[in-house]
Amino acid sequence: MGSISSHKTISYGHQSIDEADVQAVVGALTSDWLTQGPFVEAFEKKLAKRLGAAHCTATANGTASLHLIALAMGWKQGDIVITSPNTFVASANCILYVGATPDFVDIELGSYSLDPQKLEDRVKEHRRRGDNIKAVIAVDYAGHPGDWKAYADIAGRYDLQLVNDHCHAIGAVYNNDVHFAAKYADAVNLSFHPVKHITTGEGGGIVTRHEWLDKKVKVLRNHGIVRGSNLTERDDGPWYYEMIDLGFNYRISDIQCALGVRQLDRLDRFLERRREIAKYYDQAFGNDSRLVIPKVVGGVTHAYHLYPLRITFDALSTTRRLFFEGMKRVGILCQVHYIPVHLQPYYRRHFGFAPGDFPNAEKFYAEEVSIPCYPDLSGSDLEHVVKSTFTNLK
Ligand SMILES: *Cc1c(COP(=O)(O)O)cnc(C)c1O
Repeated sequence: MGSISSHKTISYGHQSIDEADVQAVVGALTSDWLTQGPFVEAFEKKLAKRLGAAHCTATANGTASLHLIALAMGWKQGDIVITSPNTFVASANCILYVGATPDFVDIELGSYSLDPQKLEDRVKEHRRRGDNIKAVIAVDYAGHPGDWKAYADIAGRYDLQLVNDHCHAIGAVYNNDVHFAAKYADAVNLSFHPVKHITTGEGGGIVTRHEWLDKKVKVLRNHGIVRGSNLTERDDGPWYYEMIDLGFNYRISDIQCALGVRQLDRLDRFLERRREIAKYYDQAFGNDSRLVIPKVVGGVTHAYHLYPLRITFDALSTTRRLFFEGMKRVGILCQVHYIPVHLQPYYRRHFGFAPGDFPNAEKFYAEEVSIPCYPDLSGSDLEHVVKSTFTNLK
């Protein structure tokens, strides 16, 4: 029982908040603006710069960002949008929010992101059938970028819009380029939920090189309302506004963005620590034939939102359920990322997906365990995770 009392409970992910973060929030609270003020713009400017893109719109959360992207891209009933089965349900749900039809393509078992060959085959098949295949949402799973040169090549040849659901991967490097996300994708989606690299409590962001897209999502974030020089019909006076589109209130507050600005200042340190942790786990687990550590392809620097450890439970005498229970008993709360989206009851019921449709995503799901990976873990936490992992493999 000693291991329970000597360790606090640790989870697969957790925010890091320091005294300066607290002071930043207090500063916003006592300013004139709790929302629609200068911290929102400051956060957007800083995010755009960090991703090397011209434009950024901060939003209420990453799911709202995806919905705004779907609306601004003009997806509608009859359009097909492809995403990865190995993601959070929100990546696919945004396709449904606008009445379009979701489809999936299997992942590669290296990056655990969309397989470009299978993507092209599926796009071709849709074209052959005369379907309106419109866009692809690729997900940089766990913080390892997908094959963006290949995705962009396919998008170019088949005239598809390209979205990067980048919620796991801020700070990742692809093809030795830290600004790859907004370079290849037409829109890049971010989330600032507490388990992500940087947090605003709840929050999201849309980063893009396209001015037209940024303008659209900014209007749609605020009820579809425009004012001043953006009025389209007339100007009754200084109070006047027009609703030109059906939008939403998907704004983020200045209180949240004040925290976001500070968190972004700390991002490099966060990334460095996540990479140290991953290196420690790689060394501990890399030579054990029962385990598969995350792979990193050439030119990539992983951002390690998650540390997805594959455990070959089929070949062991234990099960994943027992492994989870054993870890929990010593204060370690693991998680699994992800239950393949196509196997969710809603997707099976409405779209007819079934087990076996995407074998790599399903095999990955059977083996994956996300073990604790976040900046505030101590050296003794990491030792505890490694020791407990080996204990629970038996
Ligand atoms: C976190 C996450 C989202 C949703 O972001 P929220 O801010 O929680 O709405 C979407 N896609 C992926 C891949 C995520 O990890």
